[in-house]
Amino acid sequence: MEDRGFDLEARLATLEENELNRTLSPVDRVAERGYFAQSCGGELPVLDADEALVFASNNYLGLTDDQRVQDAARRAAATVGTGSGASRLVTGDTMVHRDVERLLAETKGTDRALTFSSGYAANVGTIAALEPDVIFSDELNHASIIDGCRLVDCETVVYDHRDVEDLRAKLAARADRDDAPVDADSASDPNADACSGSDSSASASSDSSSPDGTESWLIVTDSVFSMDGTVAPLSALCDVAEEFGAWVMVDEAHATGLYVDGGGVVQAEGLEDRVHVQMGTLSKALASQGGYVAGSDALISCLVNDARSFVFSTGLTPPAAAAASEALHLARHGDARERLWENVAHLRDGLETMGFDVPGDSQILPVVVGDRRDALALEAALRDRNVVVPAIRPPTVPDGESRLRFAPMATHEQADVVACLEAVREASEEVGLL
Ligand code: PMP
Repeated sequence: MEDRGFDLEARLATLEENELNRTLSPVDRVAERGYFAQSCGGELPVLDADEALVFASNNYLGLTDDQRVQDAARRAAATVGTGSGASRLVTGDTMVHRDVERLLAETKGTDRALTFSSGYAANVGTIAALEPDVIFSDELNHASIIDGCRLVDCETVVYDHRDVEDLRAKLAARADRDDAPVDADSASDPNADACSGSDSSASASSDSSSPDGTESWLIVTDSVFSMDGTVAPLSALCDVAEEFGAWVMVDEAHATGLYVDGGGVVQAEGLEDRVHVQMGTLSKALASQGGYVAGSDALISCLVNDARSFVFSTGLTPPAAAAASEALHLARHGDARERLWENVAHLRDGLETMGFDVPGDSQILPVVVGDRRDALALEAALRDRNVVVPAIRPPTVPDGESRLRFAPMATHEQADVVACLEAVREASEEVGLL
């Protein structure tokens, strides 16, 4: 009989040959609360949470360790339960869900907000539910946006990273084509070029869902780009979107909680009324798990009906919702944001003084090393000095652009930043990068 199965061994062997295999650490090397860089292949010591200096977490405000956040989760587990037991539309809706959604909407300056079981689910579910005819997507957008685009039977046009002029040109080219008579026979597979980095796909979708019956266009971008630390030019993107009547969707996963009054870049730039869909996660600065979308009453009502990752997935766990509420409250009213930005400035300054070029202008500080082996060597040399910053390699970043992605936290002391910088200096000299 022919074997119609899957040759998984061969797949893994190819990954291994190309030094791209990722593994979870062997279980006997995982400390109860420890840090082990899986990318190093099990050779490095396990560091206990108390001895390690972790400079790579998305727990930007350090709130996963905050007693008040932990107590909120405990209380919700004790009073509401450990799980919500069903989709929100069945029996899974509780007051802790409503509380976090109300607080998110207030923070994001929108009518309403809706939580999802992850940021990934929020992105794929929302983009698919909107069913745009054309999506314009930044080339460095997160994988969950790309996967959302792939779920829609539409044309996706990828524009150069943060390049408003490239976006404008692509919107104009598409608008010109729109005006031209459509040759039905020339319509190609609408997904052929979806999020592939090409802007050349051509489809003529007959779905017209905008209010005046023309195509619906969605411009989608991360606000803070997770591997580059760059920030999208949101105000300029809104200007261009308005020229062409397109909607704007912003992924604030790495920004939520960090900017003015606990908001994201949309709040920092006062764009609440110009961004139609504000998406984010509860799993980074908000110290929990889950995702959200904030927007108009109509948007949220549509998502409740049409976002399959909302409708057909169990509601957020009550402890996760309650922890996120408390963390958002602290992000808005505490001093954690201020401490984070002080640490960011200190670390950036130290890395630049050492001679590293640190691109971007957010809390994410990438040190692009280039070769993946050099990045792994630097990671290992830092680990020897109790500093944890895992190497980021392809396919997460392009070949030749492997890097260490430094991310300070609000809970780092000044002395921790000094120790991290000292370790970076020694480690870089040891592996020949300085
Ligand atoms: N968007 C961006 C920009 C992200 O970085 C991430 C997580 N890495 C997500 C969405 C997905 O969020 P979550 O981890 O909550 O699924």
